[in-house]
Amino acid sequence: MAPKNSAPHPPDAGTSQLLELIRTGRASTRQELVRMSGLSRSTVSQRLEGLLARGLVIAGDQGESMGGRPPGSLLFNPKAGFVLVADCGASQTHTGIADLGGDVLIGEITDRAIAEGPEGFLAWLEARLDEHLREASVDPALVRGVGVGLPGPVEHRKGRPVSPPIMPGWDGYPVAERLAETFSRPALVDNDVNIMALGEHRLAHNEVRDMLFVKVGTGIGCGLVLGGNIHRGAHGAAGDIGHIHVPGHDDVLCSCGNIGCLESVASGGALAAQLSDVLPRDAKVSDVVDHVLHGDDPRAVAAVRNAGREIGGVLAGLVNTCDPDVIVIGGQMALADRPLIAGIREIVYRRSLPLATHNLRIIKSSLDERAGIVGAALMVVERVLTDRGASVADAAGAP
Ligand SMILES: [Zn+2]
Repeated sequence: MAPKNSAPHPPDAGTSQLLELIRTGRASTRQELVRMSGLSRSTVSQRLEGLLARGLVIAGDQGESMGGRPPGSLLFNPKAGFVLVADCGASQTHTGIADLGGDVLIGEITDRAIAEGPEGFLAWLEARLDEHLREASVDPALVRGVGVGLPGPVEHRKGRPVSPPIMPGWDGYPVAERLAETFSRPALVDNDVNIMALGEHRLAHNEVRDMLFVKVGTGIGCGLVLGGNIHRGAHGAAGDIGHIHVPGHDDVLCSCGNIGCLESVASGGALAAQLSDVLPRDAKVSDVVDHVLHGDDPRAVAAVRNAGREIGGVLAGLVNTCDPDVIVIGGQMALADRPLIAGIREIVYRRSLPLATHNLRIIKSSLDERAGIVGAALMVVERVLTDRGASVADAAGAP
């Protein structure tokens, strides 16, 4: 198939709106669709016929379990298509296939350095996703799109990394265009923490509008869900809290060239350096977590709690700025959640304004390592099928 890089054709007016109402459970009858969409009864019927014919919506009398809903109720059918997904980190990449509800059919974690550059890395990724299709016996015709997260700032509209500090050779590389061409499907690319935030929000915290997702791994980043949508900022750099300066550490040089960045004192990488005398050479974040959980080493537990306090200091400012309902802590270090979250809570509740912390919850990610690929799938579903992310007008290859 020829690559599809032209601007998207608008779907039949209202179709995506109806699908979104059904997908999110806000409407499950024709009457509700008419009332909530503002479309006429005949338009709703016509659009609905199309959605039923494409299998994206199923009616209650079609033999599916309806969970006690009355016959004729309309339900989104997450099995009507699949998304190829990848959550690429600095040293590990999570690849897989998910259905349209974010349910992961295949998920696999591979050690692979993103620093090898885009050509080699993406060739490997494309081959891996192709293998997943075969392993899962998924009909390629049912693939609706490709969703990828990258560990650096991304210009989401174009699907290109922007000056990513740990990804040499990737600056401006047309990642989304390349993937759209390879798979002849729409491809969307975002920052890895943003897709984790999206996955966690949609599947675990959809009831709140404002949420912060903090990834603590080799580095530290934050995804901002504001008003129910990912807030990316003017240049795709919103939430890059790892390089906020924290007081008292002007002797620590950060990988970005500045001194005393949060990431250089409180990330998994920083903890590995602080505990280097008791860890294996070239210890990874997983070694730090292992040592904290099983090493019977009070000094390690104290170091993680201290890292939590430093992160909490930065988050306290964000809480006063954004007034979130919930802060979710994810990334590999969140596996050592007790000392880490204890440190974060200690400082956030002490330093933030009482009104902002009154009902604030600070909790561990419930999706753990799946958050990224789930979010990558839902990013594609929301943009390609239901147009929820309509501001992303020129998603590469959108049909
Ligand atoms: Zn820095």
